[in-house]
Amino acid sequence: MEQQRESGDTFPVIDTGKCSLCQGCVAVAPDIFFLDENTGRMSVVNHDSYPESMVEEAIRNCPKDCISWEQPIAVTRTTDFTEEEILGIG
Ligand code: SF4
Repeated sequence: MEQQRESGDTFPVIDTGKCSLCQGCVAVAPDIFFLDENTGRMSVVNHDSYPESMVEEAIRNCPKDCISWEQPIAVTRTTDFTEEEILGIG
């Protein structure tokens, strides 16, 4: 069975500044990568999870080495507010 990565874990991204638009990634994984005709740049289809082996193959075959896995930015709280402060009555 195909190993899937949940989008909560990691997701593929393209460094469009390095991308040559060769569309090799589309040949490898057409359900994941596409040329966005609105922007003229390669893009990633939004999925809940991604087949790891297909993304890894696209990464291996990308001539510009511009596909990578990325983790969502973790939102951390640096301050705990009281209920009164949140409601503006504190
Ligand atoms: S294989 Fe790499 S260089 Fe080619 S279109 Fe895809 S991301 Fe861009």
